[in-house]
Amino acid sequence: MQTLTNRAKPVDRRPMNFLEKMYLPAIGKGMVITFKHIFQKKPTVSYPEEKREFSPVFRGLHILNRDKEGRENCTACGLCAVACPAEAITMEAAERKPGEEHLYREEKYAARYEINMLRCIFCGFCEEACPKDAIYLSETFAPAHYKREGFIYGKQDLLIPLPGEQKNA
Ligand code: SF4
Ligand code: SF4
Repeated sequence: MQTLTNRAKPVDRRPMNFLEKMYLPAIGKGMVITFKHIFQKKPTVSYPEEKREFSPVFRGLHILNRDKEGRENCTACGLCAVACPAEAITMEAAERKPGEEHLYREEKYAARYEINMLRCIFCGFCEEACPKDAIYLSETFAPAHYKREGFIYGKQDLLIPLPGEQKNA
């Protein structure tokens, strides 16, 4: 029968000889292939011991930015949430009170800001939509969690730490 590609191999139906019945040639062939691969460069990366270099356009975990004085840039305008095609961002706005000028740059700030990383497709639209330079996508990626709740990132996870402040793992 005519084959569509020339990759078809006819099946050898000759009776096996003694050596073939012992599978020795097949084992030998397999070992040669195995040894050939031992000396070849590994195509895999042994993460986390070994880290891959990311592309310059890689978009990873979100960061909520502060200004030079350490105040939160976000004004809870909601433009990032509107631009998000995955509806991954939710927030609650609050009014800045007198005496809180050192905490929030604008008169309105995000009292609650959450990103659901299980929904996020890391498109970067939120970063593009933000008029306050308040959110950007970093070069780190969201770590693994055992529970779905662990992928809901709140403000405390996203906000860039102040100098000397330790971020929760
Ligand atoms: S990166 Fe895209 S999908 Fe993820 S939160 Fe931003 S806009 Fe939504
Ligand atoms: S991150 Fe930017 S776009 Fe999103 S609510 Fe804050 S200021 Fe508005």
